[in-house]
This record gives sequence, C-alpha cells and structure tokens, in this order.
Amino acid sequence: MTTNIKFNLTARILLAMALGILVGALFKFMLDGQAEKIVDVGAFSFGIKALFVDGFFHVGGQIFLASLKMLVVPLVLVSLICGTSALKDIRTLGRIGSKSMLLYILTTAIAISIAIFFAALVKPGEGVDMVATSNFNPGETPGLAQVFINMFPANPVDAMAKGEMLQIIVFAVLFGIAMSLAGEAGERLRLIFEDFNSAIMKLVEIVMQLSPYGVFFLMAKQFTILDLSDMGKLLNYFLVVLFVLLFHGFVVYGAFLALVARLNPVMFFRKMKETALFAFSTSSSNATIASNMATTTQKLGVDNKVASFTIPLGATINMDGTAIMQGVATVFIAQVYNIDLTLADYVLVVLTATLASIGTAGVPGVGLVMLAMVLQQVGLPVEGIALILGVDRLLDMTRTAVNITGDAMVSCAVGKSEKCFNADTFNDPNAGRH
Ligand code: ASP
Repeated sequence: MTTNIKFNLTARILLAMALGILVGALFKFMLDGQAEKIVDVGAFSFGIKALFVDGFFHVGGQIFLASLKMLVVPLVLVSLICGTSALKDIRTLGRIGSKSMLLYILTTAIAISIAIFFAALVKPGEGVDMVATSNFNPGETPGLAQVFINMFPANPVDAMAKGEMLQIIVFAVLFGIAMSLAGEAGERLRLIFEDFNSAIMKLVEIVMQLSPYGVFFLMAKQFTILDLSDMGKLLNYFLVVLFVLLFHGFVVYGAFLALVARLNPVMFFRKMKETALFAFSTSSSNATIASNMATTTQKLGVDNKVASFTIPLGATINMDGTAIMQGVATVFIAQVYNIDLTLADYVLVVLTATLASIGTAGVPGVGLVMLAMVLQQVGLPVEGIALILGVDRLLDMTRTAVNITGDAMVSCAVGKSEKCFNADTFNDPNAGRH
C-alpha cells in the first residue's frame, strides 16, 4: 500500500510538471504578447493574468518554495549535528571533508573544461549579430579571502536566520564534535537531536507529498512568462549548453559512479528522478536540499553521517551545471564580440569558475553573478551577459538538476569509500518508497 504512494509521487510530480507546462503554454497563447487580457463572463470581468498567473500560480508556487526553504535550516543543522556527533573518530570527518571537497572541485573543473571544449568546437557565437539591449547588474561579489572569513559565524543564530549555509555547516560540525567529546551529557543530547531529526524528516515527507501541486503552479507561471523571442540567435548557444549538461550529467557522473564508486549508474539515475524534477522546477539547489537528503539516505543508502555533510555542502559549493553554462557563455560572448581568447584565458576561466562556485549559494540565477566574475577576469565585457538572458531561465532549471545530481553522486562515492553506505538499499529498486 505504502509502496504505491511513493511510486505514485514521482509519477504525480511528472504529471504535474507536464500539466503545468501545458497550462502555462496555453495562457501564454491566450495572452498573445499582451500585458493583460480581460475576460467577460456574464456580469463578471477579470484579467486572466492578474487572476491566474499573478494570482493562483504565483501564490501557490511561492508557498511551495517557502515550504521547501523552511525545511532547510532545521534539517541541515539537526541532521549534521546528529551525523557528526555519531562519528567515533574525528579523523573520519576530516577524510569525508577532504574527499568530498576534492571530488566537488574535480568534477567542476571537468565540467567547465568539457563546456569550453565543445563551445570552441561548435562556435555558437560566430556570425551572431547581437547587441546587449538590457543592462545586467551583477552586484558585489566577495573576494576569496572574504569567502573563507565568511564561513565562520560570529553569531550562529544570525547565520541560521539568514540561511548562511557554510556558516551553519561549520557551526553544526563544531557543535557535533563538542557533543561527541562531552561524554554522557553529549550522549543524552544526541538522543534528543535524533528525535528532532526523525520529526523533521517526517515534515520533509509531508511537504514532499504535497509537492505535485507546488510543481504545477511553478511550471504554469514559469511557462506563461517565458519569453523565448531571442531563441533564434541563441539556439546554438542553448543547444551546446544543453548537450554538455546532459553529457556531464549522464556520461561523466555515470563514469564516476561505475569506475570510482563501483556502483550501478542506471540504478542511481532511476532513483534521482524525483529530486532532479524538484531541482528543475525550483531552479534552486538550496530548496532541493531536503529532497536530496531524503533520496541519498533513504533510496541510495548513503549513511546520514556522510549525506548530512555532503549534500548541504554540495548545494553551496558544487555547481557543475552552472560551471558548464559559464564555460559556454564565456566562449559565446567572446565570439559575438570578436575577441580571441588565448589558452591562458581558458585556464583562467576554469580556475575562476571553479573557485567562484565556492561561497555562492545555490539559488535561482546566481550563475549569472558568477559569470560576471569570470568575464571580468578574462577582460570580456560584463554587459555581454545581457545577450544570454533570454534563454537563461530554462537553462537555470536544467543546470540546477545537474548541480544536485553531482552532490548526490559525490555523496555515494564518499559514503562508499568510507563504508558509510548500504549497498542493499542502493540496489533495492523499492528502497525509500515507504
Ligand atoms: N540555480 C542554480 C542552483 O541553485 C545556480 C545557478 O546556476 O544559477 O544550483
């Protein structure tokens, strides 16, 4: 009986997404480029944009997003404290930390190198005649030194209030270590946190069960306002990014899983479907943390000791999909502006994009801010970002799905190598469908 409910959830999310896209496209068609369309029904008249798009779709979608974000801080804090305090040996934590950092950085560097390679090969910007018509303001980006300083919370409550992921991670890890060193008091506290964790996971489940509605609203609104009028000139750019995202997501991650982690990639991808759909519809790695943690622990068999650390960390510092967009976008913008990039420039792009992903939160559109850093580094005009804005939302959705798949893949690899992994759960197609 319960198996049925879980099975239905993925199918229901997919259905909700398809319906949302369809309804969105229908509304777009009805609006036909106008700002509003008034419909008269007997004595009533209403604007379909105001009532549906900015009304039901917007409100429903925002409530769903808020519910997902609501889970993040308590979930990360409590599960990471549980995970760290349960470690018998602090050195394990050091190993989990360094292995995941290494894999995160390595996969990002591979992602952007592949992106540059394909973009240089296909030349999506050559012959494209475009001028930046809108302005893009990237805002302030912190330097690397500040990123490290910012990891340490002067006030943990403030860090939680602001949802500063790296600060929360640092606090939870330190507190967990202190608990494991605090003898009986620490053990008593750990039991309380374990209970908290169970209750929060229950809350995650409740929100997940309601998610098809949220996904529908998000998709319906997104696809009503989606403006693809620039698609023509940007088609090659769009297709190159999409191709590299799929290549990296399936081939590179598949190879890592098979060769490094020695796990069946097909099983992994099957179990990632639901979480990938979440990422796609929310465009936010952060909002996907709860779903991704549930998937990695309950379906993929990664121990909470590893997943509670690798998933939130990955949501912040690991953005392979975003790096891919930056690689292709840099080459594209250089080609449109007829600026030649040297090999040294490409190396600089790889380095900057990899480092830029550390310290920037996984929220919608942040990739464009990171792209501004990369362009500045190699001396390309930052206003070039305005050229690709037209198709960015759709790519943002897709690259977020790749970002979080990378987090789950690294969690599996690190969990397996640390023997914090249940192979039976991983290989059981029905695991986690309770
Ligand atoms: N939306 C992406 C994420 O949350 C970041 C980006 O590429 O803009 O992972």
